Amino acid sequence: MKDKLADLIALQDVEIEIFKAEEGLREMPKEVSEIESIIGARRKSLEAVDEEIAAYEERKAPLEVELKENQTLLDAADARIKRIKTNKEYLALQREIDLAKKRKADIEEQVLMIMDKIEKKSAERQRISASFETDRVILEEKKARLEGQMKELEAVLAEYKGKDKSLRKTVDPSLLSKYDRIKKSKKGLAVAECLDGVCKGCHMHIQPQLYNELVRGDRLIICPSCQRILYARPGEEADQD
Ligand SMILES: [Zn+2]
Repeated sequence: MKDKLADLIALQDVEIEIFKAEEGLREMPKEVSEIESIIGARRKSLEAVDEEIAAYEERKAPLEVELKENQTLLDAADARIKRIKTNKEYLALQREIDLAKKRKADIEEQVLMIMDKIEKKSAERQRISASFETDRVILEEKKARLEGQMKELEAVLAEYKGKDKSLRKTVDPSLLSKYDRIKKSKKGLAVAECLDGVCKGCHMHIQPQLYNELVRGDRLIICPSCQRILYARPGEEADQD
């Protein structure tokens, strides 16, 4: 029984590694996509600031055009006013100039306000961009590391699956079917070590009589509490006397 159990323990060891590798391969892609979404969100917030700045620039451009036109108008009026002969004409033009000057001051105030906002947004963009760059490097490195680990894990998994296939051929068939049944019902560990009379699968004591039988290794012993296949490590016979 001991040799048969040794094959089964080896099989279980391999299948535990397969389980771990598969779990890693399930979890790691989630971490990778989490990193990608963090990077994406940060990039979006940077783009949002860029859009705000662009919108301000768009508001500023026609005002600057109007300011130039307004200046042309004022320059022309200045030239005309010197040639004016009647008081009536003079007053009309002076009124035109006053209006243009008022409009000019008004536009200049708007342009200054917009420039102030652009300046503040640009500073904000600078801050966001700098911290994003630092974080992005860290995140990209983490992502690359995860992708590397996934590749390694895939190779390990393939290797273990090969081992599993050949071990399944060596294990005693009736023992193997018992193992598979218990593994399924226990969702994992089917073979448990029994140390000093305690089953490591369920942490319950087994009867001394049963433990002695297990150590002798004459027949298959199942834990009465958790129904797992039990084994004792070699050398434990010494502890018995
Ligand atoms: Zn047990």
